[in-house]
Amino acid sequence: MVSTNLTALLSTLITSNHILHYHNVLDAYGHVSVRNPNNASTFFLSKQLAPALVSSPADINEYYVSSGEAVNSSDPAGYAERYIHSEILKRFPQVNSVVHSHSEDVIPYGIAGVDMRPSYHMAGFLGSKVPVFEIEQYYNNSQVHDMLVSTNPLGAALASLFANSSSSNAPTNTLVVMRGHGFATIGANLTESTFRAYFAASNARVQRKALTLAALAAKDGELGHTDGVRYLDMREQADASVMNDWSSSKPWAMWVREVEVNPLYVNTLGTPPV
Ligand SMILES: [Zn+2]
Repeated sequence: MVSTNLTALLSTLITSNHILHYHNVLDAYGHVSVRNPNNASTFFLSKQLAPALVSSPADINEYYVSSGEAVNSSDPAGYAERYIHSEILKRFPQVNSVVHSHSEDVIPYGIAGVDMRPSYHMAGFLGSKVPVFEIEQYYNNSQVHDMLVSTNPLGAALASLFANSSSSNAPTNTLVVMRGHGFATIGANLTESTFRAYFAASNARVQRKALTLAALAAKDGELGHTDGVRYLDMREQADASVMNDWSSSKPWAMWVREVEVNPLYVNTLGTPPV
C-alpha cells in the first residue's frame, strides 16, 4: 500500500504523461520522471510503454538515481534512455522532474544551425539561447551510434549542458536540444517540467513561423521593413522567466481536465491535485 502523498505524486505522474501526449509533446516515445519525495535517491518513471497508455502504479518503476537501474532487480530494465533522468537528477539535487521528448517542432533547432531563442513571453524560461547536445562528441567507436542516451556517461554528458561550469550542481539552463533526437527539460516538480516541455514546443512553432514570415517579407519591398526576427531581449527574457515560474501552475487545471474527459487516457489513481 503506497502512502497518500505517494498516491498523489504517482497520479500526477500518470496525468503528466497524458497531458504531454495530448498536446503532441510526447508521441509513442518520450518520457517524464519524478524524484521520490520520501527518498531522494530514487525516482519514478513509467515502464516500457507509450505515455498515453500509462494508467496505474503497475505501469511505473522505481529506479536508483545513482545508477538508473530498477530498485527491484526482478523488474524489467525499462526505457533504454532512463539515464537521461538518472544523471540529471544525480547532478542537480533541486531538480525533481525531467521530461525527454522527440517533439518534431523542436528537433529542427538541433540540426538546422538555428539557435532556439525565447520568442514570446511564455518561453522566458528558455534563457537567452538554448544549448544543443551534440552526442557525437561523446560516443566511443565501440558503441552503437543510434542517437540514444543509453549509458550513464552519455546521460552525464547531457546533464552537463544544464550547468555553466563542470563543477556546478545548480542548473543554469532549463532545456537542452538534442541533435537529431529531441530535447530534455527539467523542473522542481511535475507541473513545472510539464509546463516547460509544453511551452518549449510552442515557442519552437512560434519561432519557426516568425523566421518563415521574416524570410518571405525580406523578399517583398513593401512588407519587408525590419532586419529579421526580434526575440525577447535579455531583460524581457529574465523577467518573463520569473513570471513563468509563478504562473506555471495556472494551465495545469485545464490540462488535467482535458485528459480527464478524454477516454483514451485512464488514471486508476484518480484526478491528481490541481
Ligand atoms: Zn529519445
